[in-house]
Amino acid sequence: MKRRTFLQLSGMTAAGTVLSGCQSGNEKLIPYLVPPDEGVTPGKADYYASSCRFCPAGCGILVRVSEGRAKKIEGNPAHPVNRGKLCAMGQAVLQELYHPDRVPQPLKRSGPRGSGAFTRISWEESLELLAGQLRALQREKATDRLALVTPQLNGTLVELTTRFMRVFGSPHHLSFDLLGPDWLRTATRRSFGQPGLPWYDVAETRYLLSFGADFVEHHLSPVQYGYAFGRMRQGRDTVRGHFTYVGGRMSLTGASADRWMPARPGSEGALALGMARLILAESLSDAGSLAVNGLQTEKLLRRLEAYDLPRVAEQTGLPQRIIAEVAREFATTRPALAMAGETVAFQSNGPDAVRAVQMLNLLVGNLNRPGGVYPDGGSRVGPENSFTELLSLVAAMRDGRFRVAMIHGDPVHAIPPATGFQEALARVPFIVSFSSLMDDTALQADLILPDHAALESWGDVIPLAGTRDRVIGLMQPVVTPLFDTRQFPDVLMAMADKLGGKTAAFPYQSYQEMLKGTMEKRVGRAARRDFETVWVELLRQGGLFETRQGQEKGYRRAPGSSLPNPAEPRFAGDEKRFPLHLLVYPSIAFYDGRGAPLPWLQQLPDPMTTVVWDSWVEINPRTAAEMGIGFGDLVEVTSPQGAMRLPAVIYPGIRPDMVAIPLGQGHRGMGRYARGRGSNPLVLLALITDGTETRPAWHATRVRLTRISEKGELVTAGHPQGSYRSELIEI
Ligand code: SF4
Repeated sequence: MKRRTFLQLSGMTAAGTVLSGCQSGNEKLIPYLVPPDEGVTPGKADYYASSCRFCPAGCGILVRVSEGRAKKIEGNPAHPVNRGKLCAMGQAVLQELYHPDRVPQPLKRSGPRGSGAFTRISWEESLELLAGQLRALQREKATDRLALVTPQLNGTLVELTTRFMRVFGSPHHLSFDLLGPDWLRTATRRSFGQPGLPWYDVAETRYLLSFGADFVEHHLSPVQYGYAFGRMRQGRDTVRGHFTYVGGRMSLTGASADRWMPARPGSEGALALGMARLILAESLSDAGSLAVNGLQTEKLLRRLEAYDLPRVAEQTGLPQRIIAEVAREFATTRPALAMAGETVAFQSNGPDAVRAVQMLNLLVGNLNRPGGVYPDGGSRVGPENSFTELLSLVAAMRDGRFRVAMIHGDPVHAIPPATGFQEALARVPFIVSFSSLMDDTALQADLILPDHAALESWGDVIPLAGTRDRVIGLMQPVVTPLFDTRQFPDVLMAMADKLGGKTAAFPYQSYQEMLKGTMEKRVGRAARRDFETVWVELLRQGGLFETRQGQEKGYRRAPGSSLPNPAEPRFAGDEKRFPLHLLVYPSIAFYDGRGAPLPWLQQLPDPMTTVVWDSWVEINPRTAAEMGIGFGDLVEVTSPQGAMRLPAVIYPGIRPDMVAIPLGQGHRGMGRYARGRGSNPLVLLALITDGTETRPAWHATRVRLTRISEKGELVTAGHPQGSYRSELIEI
């Protein structure tokens, strides 16, 4: 049987399943009475390789399909990033396909904005509606009044969107992810003069020092780093790597460490430089590395004079003895590796703090060495400065400069309101959403052109920072689309066709064809001669995986780069009125909120607090006792930006001067499992930047707590003391 026939057959079967699943009354599982020909055997599964694009890590997946239904997702063992492993979000992608609240066909707004009143329309009608808006812009020579807002894209989709916007005549494509690692790209470029992201050889290191990089949960490529961490700890016969975690809140990553250093928020850069100074002063640095990078110990020591141990201890709130001990351990264990993460980066002094951590790697000579840090294989060319672009887009929207906004993703939920995005968007006369669920952005739209689910889509994914090798993961549809939806890139191509002229000049009929064309260009010249066979093989395997040959250009200190010198951290909110630091962290289940509609993820107990289905605020027992707050009490969290009420979780793994709230809940839409559940802590965040350039400092907001009542609603999957032993946590 041809694959196409199979997909048609399987899609019909799957569609039938879903539709009948919506009906009440008796339902029966009816086996095949007449066995289909061409090889579909009831009970026998087929496996299709594809890629997970739920987060930018781009892991490889294998989807089990039987009787035409996608039934299970596992990691692709051949994929160099995740080697057969998968995280909970990757497993739950199946529920995106079968979500009962998917937008089944194009919708046109029929009530006031935000009311959720829409009418179903056909694709022809909906595309004509959008084309009409765009033609009007063309007629009036106002094509730059179109904005396109998407998450950070990669692969062929970048080529397509860039081309569409360029040919249409608008430079306004905002590619923004709240959790995008632009900060790491910038820091790496400044430190080492190279674009792209670093790849850390965690598996081979003997001493790992993480400054707030929560690589087990979400940092860069969690499945890959989780796997590597397992190897570092248990995969070698005689070596068990040591792990020290720096950060004010004990995350799941922090809880896996041998030592926890709960440094004061914003002091991590000073801590890194204090360690650097001690390493240099005690001649523990790598002389060869200093020489290669054009640095001299004496000069460096003079520049780091301000970071003496007593001062750094005072700044960080950590004992001098511990700081010195960790610095010596780090410098005398080879190879040793330092990583910087989001909790450091999103402070007002974040960029220099990240570079201070990167300098530690240089000092101990572990650049471009096993167990050290290398340039990543795939992310060399990537988006940067998206936050700057976000703010200019918001300003232009607020001034009424845009007539049409096309939006993929859910920025209304995932962009902090302090940026003014939500208010500015309301000023755009015509909003198009490509969401497959009625999310918070789709609720504000005038037209919804629903995208396929990931398992129905074609695509390519260049994994983010997960490997040194050249990896291009492929996505292929494993079932025929269940509803009357269309892939976002195909809609752009159809729009180009409708608009005609230069915009129509796409050399491909469909996105699938375009993808195949790009892959043909990417494979070697010899393989291009018989590309049909190669293409089938690439799809079977899950993508193009090439081990990097020879020595790539490794890291060296960028000529003329100044030494990092993190300023005193600044915070939004007066210390007296708002005495506590707020940390908003991505939960392991929801990422930036995109996981919230999937019930498996809602049901996943938070690994540290065991809370399910909700939002909460974590408070240190000492702070809670001073304020008379008990476990589960309802408290109001107030920042200079906003306020919200949440149940309290008394959590010993957080500094007494901090509180933390997980990210991802608090949707107005997003289907029945996410809607109205929990709160979105982004509304609390103030807009504060690093002062020298426009970088967000999301962790630089202060808050205060007010106890409201004893009755909060909090469901835990077990007593939280079951997942950690408070007497073992010393703070
Ligand atoms: S880490 Fe990201 S890409 Fe990998 S399985 Fe999880 S959600 Fe998917």
